[in-house]
Amino acid sequence: MSAPLFPLFADLQGRRVLVVGGGPVAERKTEALLHAGARPRVGAPGLTPRLQAWQAQGRIDWIEGRFDAHWLSDAWLVVAATDDTVVNRAVAAAAEARHLFANVVDDAELSTFQVPAIVERGPLQVAISSGGGAPMLARHLRRQLETLLDDSWTSLAELFTRQRQRIRQRFPQTSDRRRFFEKLLAGPLPRLFRQQLHAQAEQHFHAMLDEHANLGRSGSVAVVGAGPGDAGLLTLNALRAMNEADVILHDRLVSEDVLRLGRRDATYIEVGKSASGHSMRQDDIHALMLEHARAGHRVVRLKGGDPFVFGRGGEELEFLRAHGIPYEVVPGITAAVACAAYAGIPLTHRDHAQSVKLVTAHCKDSFDTLDWQALAQERQTLAVYMGVAGLEGLRERLVQHGRAPSTPFALIENGSRRDQRVLNGTLADLPETARFHQVRSPALLILGEVAALADTLHWFGAPPVGAPTHSRNLPAPTLQAA
Ligand code: SAH
Repeated sequence: MSAPLFPLFADLQGRRVLVVGGGPVAERKTEALLHAGARPRVGAPGLTPRLQAWQAQGRIDWIEGRFDAHWLSDAWLVVAATDDTVVNRAVAAAAEARHLFANVVDDAELSTFQVPAIVERGPLQVAISSGGGAPMLARHLRRQLETLLDDSWTSLAELFTRQRQRIRQRFPQTSDRRRFFEKLLAGPLPRLFRQQLHAQAEQHFHAMLDEHANLGRSGSVAVVGAGPGDAGLLTLNALRAMNEADVILHDRLVSEDVLRLGRRDATYIEVGKSASGHSMRQDDIHALMLEHARAGHRVVRLKGGDPFVFGRGGEELEFLRAHGIPYEVVPGITAAVACAAYAGIPLTHRDHAQSVKLVTAHCKDSFDTLDWQALAQERQTLAVYMGVAGLEGLRERLVQHGRAPSTPFALIENGSRRDQRVLNGTLADLPETARFHQVRSPALLILGEVAALADTLHWFGAPPVGAPTHSRNLPAPTLQAA
């Protein structure tokens, strides 16, 4: 094994860098050099249109022709980006002779410096290198870091850069300075930037600097939607919140696959809340959030689907606001949207449905408050949450108010999960079909003309049950005819 590379961030502002080559690779390298404020000199027989434009704008110099060692004069660095190994070798040799560092694109052997993969957040740069040996791995890691570092890092880096002198004056000792930064970063500052509350963030920073802020730990709650089950449906914001959490209070609906992605050493507390069975009282959930936030913890309140769709997220926010606990909300993919997608049912369709209603109907009381006249209209889609128990009443009232008994339905159990099941049928036999197949919670009912499309458009898991067998997995008849 050769020795490791020496990592280095070079100041190229106003400095001459030679790029040999005028193709797309040379263009990318030149762009990166311009971003760093360098003065690229591009030597090549011809240039890409963008390189030509930069030359016309006076941002780069162009030497037309084949490589000549004179091109190296007054350069600080050299990049060889041609597809001609003979030229690349000549460039590397000429650079070596002049004690100049050279990068030969895609050739670690010939290179005396490597260009790392970069994640940039304002003045903050993360550079990743595999020493030229495994650039794909470095790029893969870069993509992972990109998703982990939200934009608040840019604001933090800019603020700290701007205030560097003041911070040094205020805390001349390194150890004091470190403590100050630790406190700042563990506190509300990153969250305030994420919430785009820049003025409040600055205010908090100055209060901390002048020490008239309450330096006690201040907790917060993120109310996060975990989606329907498939962990791939989490948002990046949800993932980040789960990675930063000290405490995760989750519903029973949140899947194992999702919970696995949370921070390892966070405390996980299941707070029930499934449609059936025992669940913790809402008051107790509130009390738990309050207790942990007041203890200075970063709390994630993790809910199935979206927190604001039949998730009591609104009540939790009202409670947090009333108790002065800072909060943020991360939306999730709600069951209706996810189940429809994973069953191959477009919720709206130009030919079949011009509107969608999200409804919950799990008990007599909730039934009586619904506008059945409106719900029974044709050419619309109903997505019924928590509906498994009340299917008989649902059929009765819809038919009473004029919905045709032949209206198609799809019942989706465990939508987006490994054990997803889809049942198809018509309103006339809805409760019987559900009972016969012993549908269990969580299950979502989609009722309306579009539900029949699951039969031809399904793509995930097993085909719908209860649909005519001849059409399963076959293209739609119109397609066959064409
Ligand atoms: N806030 C959640 C809904 C909570 S109410 C959301 O936005 O999705 C709970 C009901 O949601 C369940 O009874 C069921 O009707 C539906 N549901 C949630 N996840 C589901 C899933 N993976 N498959 C089918 N239905 C689901």
